[in-house]
Amino acid sequence: MNVYRFIPSAAALVRLATGADLLTELQAACAKLGVRAGSIEAIGAVSTLALGYYHQDRKEYETLRFEGRWEIVSATGNVSLAEGEPFVHVHVVASGADGRCVGGHLVPGCTVFAAEATIVALEAGDSPVREPDDVTGLRLWR
Ligand code: ZN
Repeated sequence: MNVYRFIPSAAALVRLATGADLLTELQAACAKLGVRAGSIEAIGAVSTLALGYYHQDRKEYETLRFEGRWEIVSATGNVSLAEGEPFVHVHVVASGADGRCVGGHLVPGCTVFAAEATIVALEAGDSPVREPDDVTGLRLWR
């Protein structure tokens, strides 16, 4: 277990632009706010939905694309550094017109219809840094 102790230093509410890619927009907001470590949550709706599923046996992501328009029931995640840049890691649960939900790892391909994010920056010493992990095949905090 790796523990990184931080103190919340700033928080922002961000309206994400209609038509923007959800992941790109969250990354841009973190960059604008100068967040090197933090937490993110968002709610809203998307007009396209793509989510990643990590195949643990093959150690690779599969991108799942879902037809229709979706409510973002919950999007939650964190910000840390990867290769010196803010890296946004978010998981999404979204509901369709029938109320059923799907979920997964946020990947490019989710088009914002309307969405609002809460970003909390954490301030302290060293930010967690993502590095390749041989066991999982993922980039994890060292
Ligand atoms: Zn993930």
